[in-house]
Amino acid sequence: MTAEAHDPPVAQVSVAQEIAALNAGAWRLQYGDPLEARSLAERALALACQTGDDAGEVYARVALACYEMRHGDVELARREFESAKHFFERKKDVRGLMRASFGVSALLSRDGRSDDAYAELIGFVSDLDGAEPVDAFVIYNCLGITSIEAGQLDDGMRHCYKALTAARQLGSPDHLALILSNLGDAQHGAGNYEDAIRFLVEADEMVGQSRLAALAPLVAGNLAMCQLAIGAHEAAYETIQPYLNLSDDEVRIGKADAAFFQAIAAHTYAAHGRWDEAGAMVDRALLAAEASGESRVITHCLWVRGLVERGLGHVSASLGAFQKAEAYLSKQQDPYYPVQINRELARAHASLGQWQQAYDYLDQYQQLYQRSLGSAARARTQITRIQSELAEAERERDFALLKQAEAERARTELEMLNRELANKVDEIERLQAKLREQAIRDPLTNLYNRRYLQEELSNEIKLAERRHYSVCVVLIDLDHFKAVNDRFGHPMGDQVLIELACMLIGNIRGSDFACRFGGEEFCLVLSDIDLELALGRVRTLLHRFHALVVEMDGRRLDQLSFSAGVAEYPRHGRSPDSLLAAADAALYRAKACGRDRIFPAD
Ligand code: GH3
Ligand code: MG
Ligand code: MG
Repeated sequence: MTAEAHDPPVAQVSVAQEIAALNAGAWRLQYGDPLEARSLAERALALACQTGDDAGEVYARVALACYEMRHGDVELARREFESAKHFFERKKDVRGLMRASFGVSALLSRDGRSDDAYAELIGFVSDLDGAEPVDAFVIYNCLGITSIEAGQLDDGMRHCYKALTAARQLGSPDHLALILSNLGDAQHGAGNYEDAIRFLVEADEMVGQSRLAALAPLVAGNLAMCQLAIGAHEAAYETIQPYLNLSDDEVRIGKADAAFFQAIAAHTYAAHGRWDEAGAMVDRALLAAEASGESRVITHCLWVRGLVERGLGHVSASLGAFQKAEAYLSKQQDPYYPVQINRELARAHASLGQWQQAYDYLDQYQQLYQRSLGSAARARTQITRIQSELAEAERERDFALLKQAEAERARTELEMLNRELANKVDEIERLQAKLREQAIRDPLTNLYNRRYLQEELSNEIKLAERRHYSVCVVLIDLDHFKAVNDRFGHPMGDQVLIELACMLIGNIRGSDFACRFGGEEFCLVLSDIDLELALGRVRTLLHRFHALVVEMDGRRLDQLSFSAGVAEYPRHGRSPDSLLAAADAALYRAKACGRDRIFPAD
């Protein structure tokens, strides 16, 4: 089998990338543009089925199930999430498992099982630091909502803040608008209107830049409700004004949300004394609220209806509306409404002179109000604490990152210094080697010098003594060399010395060595050789020297000769000095006998 057979074809790799890109787009657009998200996921699904990309297929199914969960067949979504969960568990794909579990959790939360919904996701928190921001957002947002639903405001706010950070990292107005709106809702529920307004104002700005058209009137409604609660009637009117003339179709929101928005609008009209418009709007709101069947919204509409009737001077109708609202209080969770309704009931009874009832409702109201003040104060301090905790965590993370960067810098610097040091050490070693060589070499001929000869000859003698062989020392002195200099000049003399050195080096064994002994005198140390053989070798050298022709600047020099004396260890001496002296004496005799000859020592 060839190597290529193991790799998927190029076309298939790019299809896998396309599937992944489609799935990523679908996951990111699930809030901002659910229809587009669905169409991307459908394309991913078709491609994945064609190419047998199992994981790509299941990712697409999870994205499609998110659409079904919010806009279509909830039971289908439930089945898809469950089977995707098992698939990703088998594959040990944490990201996929996280997405499928998010779906399971969102459905549990929808069924009112906040605790189970929370348990489904809390285990993923440890994986979220390295996760994509889009996944961190989805998990933290869902954990935030389920915690708040379960009454764990503290935990919920902490998760929501993490989701907020993830949305900021994503840089997506859709995700930002959604989480800010959720944060605002949570604070309103706790009676902390100031922070709720802060979040909702920001959400309102974000919604303008996002594709979440449906969220816009809801955020505006929530914001206006908080503004009404703190008596900022003008601001409330400005907040909802842009949406007042939209038809239900244009707003494209569900009945309950539309009813809620209309109730807020009616309330705002009422706050401005525009009673007729308020009356007409609250009628529409109540119809939509009753059609939606959502108790919280019905309560809200009945409350506003009571306010409007009172404004119109219909005292009994007003009391009737508040009493109907009271009947819905137990069917909804928001602690905001019992406070409002009990207060209104106290006022309504009082204006009818029904003092006992008025007193009872006032008493109720005061208890609820104290409780709500407590929860608002708690919510405010919680926010401050969570913000400072998160800021501290961020500071710690930034500090750790800074430390890491510093350590990294220090490491590279150290590496550089180490490399420089290693280069320096190399250079020093090269220089030292060069100096060692210079100390034992003659610069003109590059032969060893006399100092080296002294050391090595003594070593050679020791070795010869141990191994019982003989060593010959040859002293060579050029004949009439002064005359060469005189006739041809010093440079030509130098050239003769260099060429003789080359010749000596080229004609001795590896175990022998040649030195420049002095000006025009050379010394050979021939290892493991007897006198007769050595004499023969030097004779050969002399013949070669005879044949040497040195040329320089068009001038020729030949017929050169030298005289030599040869001494043998141990026959003529046992120390360097005695051997050299014996060789020198033989050399002297060779000179005396007419030069151009080789004499053995006596
Ligand atoms: P002899 O045959 O008796 O040895 O005669 P000679 O001229 O060779 O001996 P002498 O000792 O009188 O002269 C040696 C000459 O060698 C003198 C000096 O100028 C020359 N000489 C010594 N060292 C060098 C050198 O490095 N370069 C050159 N060109 N000449 C040198
Ligand atoms: Mg000499
Ligand atoms: Mg000489």
